[in-house]
Amino acid sequence: MSVLLSGGMVTTAAGSRLAAVRFSGGRITDIGDLVGRLGEEVVDCSGCLVLPGGIETHSHLDLEAAGTVTADDFATGTRSALVGGTTTVLDFATQFHGETLMEGLERWHAKARGRAVTDYGFHLAMTQWLPEFADEMAEVVQAGVTSFKLYMAYRSSMMVGDDEIYAALQASTRVGATIGFHCENGLVIDALTREELARGHTWAFYHQRTRPTALEREAAGRLSTIAELVDAQHYIVHLSAGETLQEVRRARERGSKVVVETCPQYLLLDNRLYGTPGSDDLDVRQYVMSPPLRAPANLEALWAGLADGDIQFVGTDHCSFNLHGQKDQAKDFAAIPNGAPGLELRLALLYTYGVSDERISAERFVAVTSENAARYFGLYPRKGTMLPGSDADIVVYDPGPTWTVSHDDLHDNVDHTPYEGRTIQGRVRDVFLRGHHVVSDGVLADDLAPGEFLECGPPNSEIT
Ligand SMILES: [Zn+2]
Repeated sequence: MSVLLSGGMVTTAAGSRLAAVRFSGGRITDIGDLVGRLGEEVVDCSGCLVLPGGIETHSHLDLEAAGTVTADDFATGTRSALVGGTTTVLDFATQFHGETLMEGLERWHAKARGRAVTDYGFHLAMTQWLPEFADEMAEVVQAGVTSFKLYMAYRSSMMVGDDEIYAALQASTRVGATIGFHCENGLVIDALTREELARGHTWAFYHQRTRPTALEREAAGRLSTIAELVDAQHYIVHLSAGETLQEVRRARERGSKVVVETCPQYLLLDNRLYGTPGSDDLDVRQYVMSPPLRAPANLEALWAGLADGDIQFVGTDHCSFNLHGQKDQAKDFAAIPNGAPGLELRLALLYTYGVSDERISAERFVAVTSENAARYFGLYPRKGTMLPGSDADIVVYDPGPTWTVSHDDLHDNVDHTPYEGRTIQGRVRDVFLRGHHVVSDGVLADDLAPGEFLECGPPNSEIT
């Protein structure tokens, strides 16, 4: 049976028009001036935006880190994503020391299979670089994972050196993949951390003091310089600072194939939340994430970058740890599990503070929350747009209601949200995943089918 979404403003990155969308068998069949057929289910979308399902580019579900494991696994994390209008989640499968790349990937399949309720794909995060990975990368690409990740920070556990970055980029270029980089200078962060701890500065406030913006800017510039030597596709995950974006612009002028992701927390929260030097309560510890929140001037710089095409997509870096029992256990700032939740509110936050506050257009909103990711990670046009033949992953967003974020209303498995008390404009009313009506009037269906694993194609950096 086919379904007709009628009367809504159909909005993709390419444009908006009042139109109806018909789908059947999980795929979109028609878009235009359509009228309901006999026996067809018609859903009235008058006054609403009809959008392609959101694509989350950055989550860490069921991740073992800092001697614990994230509060959200694939079951809770993807439920939370779905009710927030995200129908595809790209999670960071992680290879730990001692594992081959394929072992890391298989372990992540086992975590997600049958539990995720969105469709999902993986990036493969490598916690080290070994020469044999150059060949193993080809196997990973064959298995449908075309993006990798390396860390320029976390010296004691994951950091790679410049020669390793060079080797990895050579290898990824050969196999037609891309690599996302956590850009912060890990060696200097390590020195600053030791310095502060030696002074007895153990409080959460000092987390940001040991990770200044300059160290992100420096790492991003160094990365692009190395990548240019092999003309390698690469992207910067969770870019947090205006000066880093300047560095990216300079790299692009040199011809660098660099793509940029930022996160809602860097667009909406700033470093005043870290309080004053003695601050260490849970209200401060909740914002311990890397990179840290930045000085207020960075926020508008990132919004401008999002609007003018310098930033290509927004992922949340959802890496959830409870305040009670996890973030409160650390003896000093350097031991606090890093990360914050965000999956559920990504679209609502970007709509409210982007579209509704007139920082970005509705079309740009779709580009940065869905279409660009689909293009870059080789899922387009199955995902990221609404064309005949695309998966019927559709969000009906009602821009009317205003509400206030309360963690009690969210669907994740963590004990807080960094957006508590924020005003939101509009809400995700309905969500369809491959034609299944998974969210109705804001309520998750209780018979959710497992999501499908998505094989990603070759990265396409022709996006703005
Ligand atoms: Zn991350």
